[in-house]
Amino acid sequence: MTAYSKLQLPNNESKLLLHSCCAPCSGDIMERLCVSGIEYTVFFYNPNIHPLREYEIRKNENIRFAEQHNIPFVDGDYDREEWFTRAKGMEHEPERGIRCTMCFDMRFERSALYAHEHGFNVFTSSLGISRWKNMDQINDCGLRAASHYPGINYWTFNWRKDGGSQNMITLSKQEKFYQQEYCGCAYSLRDTNQWRTKNDRQRIKIGVKYYGTE
Ligand code: SF4
Repeated sequence: MTAYSKLQLPNNESKLLLHSCCAPCSGDIMERLCVSGIEYTVFFYNPNIHPLREYEIRKNENIRFAEQHNIPFVDGDYDREEWFTRAKGMEHEPERGIRCTMCFDMRFERSALYAHEHGFNVFTSSLGISRWKNMDQINDCGLRAASHYPGINYWTFNWRKDGGSQNMITLSKQEKFYQQEYCGCAYSLRDTNQWRTKNDRQRIKIGVKYYGTE
């Protein structure tokens, strides 16, 4: 395990709800929380992930790692019909655009509700650790979701700091996590495959690639 500086939750809170998008993104965060002695629960709510097989693989990788660390894991709904309904009219929006805002909003609204109903005063997400994502966009969505519940805060901690981005890759290789090759939704799968076809690259094969095995 990497040596990290000790983390402290905002307002000296004692426990955290961690919205997790996948094992590679949350793995390093989970270890940092463990070494900091922070009590937390992983909340997996990602109805954007398509197709079902990809969803199951990503979720099961996350469960495996949570079990390894004895961390409680909450399996949220796979509410994909609602996700597709909300995405109507945004099918051709680029990544980091308004469809992604909708997608983060949906995932954080449910995270904030779960936090409110289960006694967590603070929640955060692994989504921001990826350099592909716009951290300001993610933080705005998190803060908006939290604002619906008095007393609940979204922790905007920058997980890329302290070598987080690099450690995330190192840990993923060590754990041989499943390596997803697109952001998650049907439209990101379509767009990545279109780009690959144009650039003479192989189309994505779901369930094939694992870190540290190539
Ligand atoms: S590209 Fe990623 S963040 Fe954007 S809508 Fe699709 S799954 Fe959600």
